[in-house]
Formats: sequence, structure tokens, C-alpha cells
Amino acid sequence: MKILSGLVYHESNTFNPFLTGLDQFVVREGEEILDRFASTPVLHEAGATIVPSVYATAFSSGIVSREAYEDIKARLLRAVEDNLDVDGIWLHLHGAMLIEEIGSAEIDILSALRERVGDEVPISVAMDPHGNIDPRVPELATVLRSYRTIPHVDQPEIERRTAQHLVSLVRGEVGSGAVAHSAVPFVISGDIPLTSQSPLNEILAKLDEAEAIPGILDASYYVGFAWADVTQCRGSVVVVPEGPEHASLAQETADSIRDYVVSRFPEFRFTTPTLGVAETVAAFDDVAQRPLVVSDSGDNTTGGGVGYSTVVLKEVLEAEPSDKVCVSTIWEPGAMAELASREVGEEVEIAIGMDHDEVSRPVTVRGTIKAKGDLLGYMSSVNDRIGATCTISVGNVDIVLTDQPGSFVTLNHFRSAGLDARDYDVIIVKQGYMFPEIAELAGEHIMCISPGATYQFIENLAYTKVDRSAVFVAEPVGR
Ligand SMILES: [Zn+2]
Repeated sequence: MKILSGLVYHESNTFNPFLTGLDQFVVREGEEILDRFASTPVLHEAGATIVPSVYATAFSSGIVSREAYEDIKARLLRAVEDNLDVDGIWLHLHGAMLIEEIGSAEIDILSALRERVGDEVPISVAMDPHGNIDPRVPELATVLRSYRTIPHVDQPEIERRTAQHLVSLVRGEVGSGAVAHSAVPFVISGDIPLTSQSPLNEILAKLDEAEAIPGILDASYYVGFAWADVTQCRGSVVVVPEGPEHASLAQETADSIRDYVVSRFPEFRFTTPTLGVAETVAAFDDVAQRPLVVSDSGDNTTGGGVGYSTVVLKEVLEAEPSDKVCVSTIWEPGAMAELASREVGEEVEIAIGMDHDEVSRPVTVRGTIKAKGDLLGYMSSVNDRIGATCTISVGNVDIVLTDQPGSFVTLNHFRSAGLDARDYDVIIVKQGYMFPEIAELAGEHIMCISPGATYQFIENLAYTKVDRSAVFVAEPVGR
């Protein structure tokens, strides 16, 4: 059994004015990429020879430049063309990756693979539940299964599951049939549906029940990705049958879960306080349990925000807080270049802000360089260096600058920057919902409703391709 493996993962935000270039991606090839996939041991155990293709991932950001994508795609297709005798293809894709001039990367990749290997070779795909799934995607793939969890902690499990299903297909233990797709006619902020909360937890239980039905291999609910102004922006339910004879069962199951999702949709709500920028900073003096973690939610680089906003920083500096505050991570390549020749401990006066638009207007600070370090990557790439950090202390406020967009999604991200997250009373992160290690650290959480490409109240976004009647209007939550 010969299986080709690869990962092309990016969540593309059309409200982010910057294209995502190749320099923002971690791109790897060769045998080393197999160590990054939980699918690898499953395939090895099945006796498969694994052909590595490409591993390419980046923080969520703007639409991917055509040049960057063509480079990544060429690496994938080279591996396929050199191995046209593969028995199956295992991939990890996002579901909301958009390419300049092309559109959906998932459709483009799967179409290119089908052109080369034909319709009979099974393609099994692990995916992110924040995908905007065009019906073409399940037409082209044999198996697709999203993670259940938001925040995403079951990626390895889904990599193993999709690999196991691929093995079963190649061995003929299960058959393949038309994958059912049922559109959920709603668009919701990516930070509202969380696995631990109702109604998503009950919807996920329905998916588990569906997967226990004989004839059903996989069932997924994609909540969609609201920060993409594309016609396929919405949720969907996807159900994979165990053979052509179960295709109608799969469609009935998908439609019935879709109806259940629609019936529960009005119950979605924010579960943490949603406060304005000034209200958030005013709350610093009144925190019951420290540290307070603040999501700079409009500039969330885990949802495609630019990561350059100085709006919250300005408010924090004006407040001259008596608490120790960490403002992480502001993308500022200009200031980073200026600071390159300066040493830790030196006093500096520097303007922070790329001055691209209203949210990135510069603020001049005078302070001391506290630390220099590495900026680490995202999701399965959290141990890869993707750039540099420089932290400047201004009074009680530590400001973390970076030369690439990023977010401190693990405690190791702080350590790699030369910081200890535990030193702070207040930590500001470029996130929406908190990533698991940050959530564990947090005494309290505020979803700061800041401006930017990941603005939470999505009914205010300048959609042109999304049906406005489908846009979920969330209620603000007080503290
Ligand atoms: Zn996601």
C-alpha cells in the first residue's frame, strides 16, 4: 500500500488588506514532515509506504498570494506526479483557504489531484471546522472529517481517524459513495461556537450518534468562517457513507443534523464579557482573579486579523496602569528593523504602528528593551520559529513587537520571546477565544471588542457576497 501525505493549512480573511506571502508560511518537504502527522503511525502500522509531499502552514491572515500558493502547490503536485501509482492520498486541509485570483484552495488542490490520479484513488482529508465548504469539496474528496473541538485540541485524533478510514478504503473493508453536503444557512462569528458550550456540545453529540449508524463513516459540522466575504461563506453538515448503497442514508442524516443545527442556532451566544476598548482597560483595576486575559478580538491573528493594531496599546499607555501588563504581539517590521542593532537593557524611543490605516496609527514610546527572542508558529507548527520578537518595557507595560504577524497561543510562545506569562496581572493577546494553555492560565477573560479585520459583531462588516439575512446578530455580554 502506497499513500501520499501532506498538509496545506491556512484560514484566509478577506477583510485583512494584506496578501499572505510565502515568508509567512512554514514550508517543509521530505521525510521530516511525516513526523508532524499523527496519521503517520497509523499508516505505518497498516504496512503502508508513505510518500511525503508538502507541509505548509501559517497563522491565519489575508488571502494567500498566488505566487506563494503556486510554490506550495507545485511541491505537492511534484510528489504526486512522481508517484502516480499511489493507492491513496491523505491530506490535512483547512477549508477556508483563499488564493488571490483563484478562490478556494481546497477545490483547486483536490481538482488538481483528481486530474492526476483519477476518480478511483481514495482521498481522505482532515479539516478545520471553521471551513466554508463549497459542495465541490465533498464531490472531490472520498472522506472528509473536521475536528470536533473548538478550541482545536483533537487534531491528532482526526488525523489518525482519517488515516484509518483511508486504510479501510484501500483494503476494500469499506466502500465509497457520494459524500452528503447540507448547507447551514447561517454565518456566525468564529469565536461564538465553543465545544464546551451549549448548543454546540449538543450538536456535536448528534454527530457522534450519526457516526454510530451502520452505513455512516463520518459526520462533521463546519461552523463556517465569517471573516471571508465569499459566496460559500456559511456553515455545513457533511456526512460520509460507507459505500454507494448508503449515499441516500448519508444525505438524509446530513439534512436531519442540518435541521437540528438550524433549530438550535438562536441559542448561540458569547460566553465571556464583550467590552469596548476603554471599558476593558477601566476593568484592569477591578479584577477578581488574576491574570486577566484580554482578547484584542478585532485584530485576532488566529482568525485572520492583521496583528498590527495599536488601538488597545494606546488606551493601556494612557491609563498608566499600576498592574503589570503585557501587550502581545504587535506586528511592526519597521520598528523591528530599527531595534535590530539595539541591545537588551538599552533605553530607546520608538514609534510603534505601521500607519497603514486608523487602527495602526503610530504611538511613540520611551522605554527599555527588556528581551529579544523568537516568534513561534501556529497550530501544528507551534515549535517552529517564524520570526523575531522584541519586548520594550514602558513603566509597567511590556510591549511585544514582532517582525511577522503572530499570536502567543502557548506559554512557550512567551518563553521563546524571553518572557514569563506568570509575571503579569493583565495579558493582552491577539486572539478571540483563548487558546487552551492561555485559558488555563487566565483568572478572568474579557473579549475586548476592538476594531479590525476580525470584528466580532459581524453584522457591521462590509459584506458584498454574503446574504445579510444569514448573518448571526450576537448580543453583547456585560461583566
Ligand atoms: Zn479553526
